[in-house]
Amino acid sequence: MTTSNDNSLPLLEGYYEEQIIRCMKCGMCQSTCPVYYEDSLETGCARGKLALSEALLHGKLEPNHKIEMIFNKCLLCHACAQACPVGLSPDKVFAAARAEMVKRFNMPWIKSVIYRKLLGEGKLSSLTGILSLANRLKLFSIARSLSIPKILGKSVERLSFVDLSDIPSRPFTDRFPEVLEPKGIPLGDIGYFVGCAQNSVFQDVAEASVNILLSLGYRVIIPKGQGCCGFPHYGAGDFETLKQKIAQNSSAFKRYKLDAIIISCATGGSALKDVYPEITKEDDASTLGAKVYDISEFLAERHLVDLKKMLPKNIQEKVKVTYHDACHLNRLQGVFKQPRELLDIMPSYEFVEMENSTKCCGEGGGFTVYYQDISTSIVNRKREAIKNTGAKVVALGCPGCRAQISGALKQEGLNIDTKHTVCLLWDEIKKGKQNNL
Ligand code: SF4
Ligand code: SF4
Ligand code: SF4
Repeated sequence: MTTSNDNSLPLLEGYYEEQIIRCMKCGMCQSTCPVYYEDSLETGCARGKLALSEALLHGKLEPNHKIEMIFNKCLLCHACAQACPVGLSPDKVFAAARAEMVKRFNMPWIKSVIYRKLLGEGKLSSLTGILSLANRLKLFSIARSLSIPKILGKSVERLSFVDLSDIPSRPFTDRFPEVLEPKGIPLGDIGYFVGCAQNSVFQDVAEASVNILLSLGYRVIIPKGQGCCGFPHYGAGDFETLKQKIAQNSSAFKRYKLDAIIISCATGGSALKDVYPEITKEDDASTLGAKVYDISEFLAERHLVDLKKMLPKNIQEKVKVTYHDACHLNRLQGVFKQPRELLDIMPSYEFVEMENSTKCCGEGGGFTVYYQDISTSIVNRKREAIKNTGAKVVALGCPGCRAQISGALKQEGLNIDTKHTVCLLWDEIKKGKQNNL
């Protein structure tokens, strides 16, 4: 049991303490950990960090910034949990440990601006116009030619290469009405969770998702007042803002009677399906008013046959496409075969599997900034795996992975596009509509 003393860590008690104590130190998590793979240090893998958590919990160590950085040295990729024979979720312990550190040392101001202002207060969406203008004026490539991103480190430099194509001047939620009606009698009422990245930068994903759902005959509701999913706050140990985000999203979605809630952001989906229940102790449907599905999960499981009918026929030339499994979609939501099923029915593409498709891309939020060398080595390995397939397109389901992988590919001057699976699908449906005229 935890003794109460000045060093007590209440956020690590209960469920988390049980996880720490149950670790039998077998080391099965070592070989699957992408961080351990890079630096071979025990503190990189789950066993080492769990031992550290135990020492903290039992007062054998005092929290300090060095320990804080060890807890930050984790991608929250859940690979250790998948390998653990005892069924532990070490990543959840590390998120709670980060929360203890934030409580004790507070957040550095820059992190506080990013997590509490930009994401917490939704200020990222009000920057959409500025990002759009900067993109159109090619300011990112000008900055690149002046080597500005390089000064800020490898990860920032990589990010400056991300293919942003087109960023609309207004956020997605301002461009689309709250309720969208399909043609004919609606098949049901779907709530759409937009997510910050897709509300501002990657709006093509939100547009494709909503259009596909409408084409299938659903009424699509995009509740006003929804905000960031809260995963960035969870990962950064800011549990207070996370709880505010849960309350905000709960009240936004519960205003409607929905048959399902769809999200097309892997990390956001794992927040709604996995983190919310961890914090609220109730399932996603109770917190948000309806069960949550990732878009590829929903489409492949319910509408594969309907979608096939909407696709173009007689496509002669096929483009090679491969697929990267986002950790938060594959491991945390169990969505693996569904995106592949969608890619398989697209007549314009030939699906080719990449080696180690389920290996993390090294993004991991703050990890990318704190551990730029490790993050870069991991994504470079992913880039090689993609190159080896000969694919011209990488499909995926996560904005974080998209930024990381797109940046790495374009930085090397490769002519390989990085797209969300639903964007490819919507393009196919549009081609199908033209075919059928
Ligand atoms: S969550 Fe991923 S990065 Fe973190 S310890 Fe587990 S395997 Fe390693
Ligand atoms: S695999 Fe599980 S039980 Fe074994 S060392 Fe890792 S966390 Fe502990
Ligand atoms: S995980 Fe997705 S929904 Fe959540 S903050 Fe990031 S982009 Fe937004």
